[in-house]
Amino acid sequence: MTRVGFIGLGTMGHGMAANLLMAGNRLTVWNRTPEKAVDLVCDVAANPIELGKTSDIVFICVSDTPDVEAVVFGEDGVIHGLEGGALVVDHSTISPGATKALAARAAESGVAWVDAPVSGGAEGAENGTLAIMVGGPAEAVDRARPYMEAYSRTITHIGEEPGSGQMAKAVNQVLVVLNELAASEALLLAQGAGLDLDTTLAAVEGGAGGSWMLSNRGPQMIERNWQPGFTIDLQQKDLRIVLDAADELGVPLPGVSLVFQLYRALQAQGLGSEGNHALVKALEQLAGIELGS
Ligand code: NAP
Repeated sequence: MTRVGFIGLGTMGHGMAANLLMAGNRLTVWNRTPEKAVDLVCDVAANPIELGKTSDIVFICVSDTPDVEAVVFGEDGVIHGLEGGALVVDHSTISPGATKALAARAAESGVAWVDAPVSGGAEGAENGTLAIMVGGPAEAVDRARPYMEAYSRTITHIGEEPGSGQMAKAVNQVLVVLNELAASEALLLAQGAGLDLDTTLAAVEGGAGGSWMLSNRGPQMIERNWQPGFTIDLQQKDLRIVLDAADELGVPLPGVSLVFQLYRALQAQGLGSEGNHALVKALEQLAGIELGS
């Protein structure tokens, strides 16, 4: 039986690991903060190297590019425990360019690399409905697919080139933040007009202007519940990746640049750990009105 490892039990990784367990896999996990593993009935490694020694395939879901580098190639990194022929599947959202370099470095140890960033929020990880955008050799992707099916309904192989999954995720993030901006402006207009917000949302969400953001985060915005599914700080990390890639390619993204600056204003006010739907707060400040006021 293939031995599966999972590194990073945060908002996303915890739900994914739980679904791997429910699917009957033999699983070992490691998380920097060990308490997050206590409710998972599986082996817990002391560090990434130890996890590598007992895994044939390792899934990773940590925050940013330097964090992936640390858990894979750091002093205690998983690569030092893996045998040649092993496979690393990175679910973190990181730089497409850095991913190419990480995949090449892993190949020097005979380890294959698949970049597989996800979309669908904490709900998607928990309910097994994530969308996954995958880059890497078809053979490695096919090896990872049956495990990813434990937490995903849509697995799309974007291309063989390492980093192509990450580039598709950058495309996804353009849609995420512009839908977030659209939901924020729309609800604020409804507020300004004195419309009932729940009724208005119900009226428009099934029409041409509907979106996942409006249906899932709109009600939280109306309730002023800023609990993060995805934090503003991580959203900004993704927008840096998007804007860097667009800059390199010479593609103008005026809408994304605007949202980046609005989130920057919220970070400057100490709101970086709130959910990304708190974007509406920046617009409330411009408008001088608040949802629900
Ligand atoms: P999170 O809740 O903040 O969890 C981050 C995880 O990474 C934690 O397990 C954390 O360990 C670990 N970590 C961070 N830096 C590390 C380091 N240097 N060494 C070891 N472990 C480290 O974040 P998340 O929301 O699960 O997001 C994880 C990834 O998924 C990110 O790349 C994010 O952009 C992406 N993503 C998130 C969502 C979402 O809705 N949340 C949706 C799609 C994609 P500790 O527990 O010790 O802090």
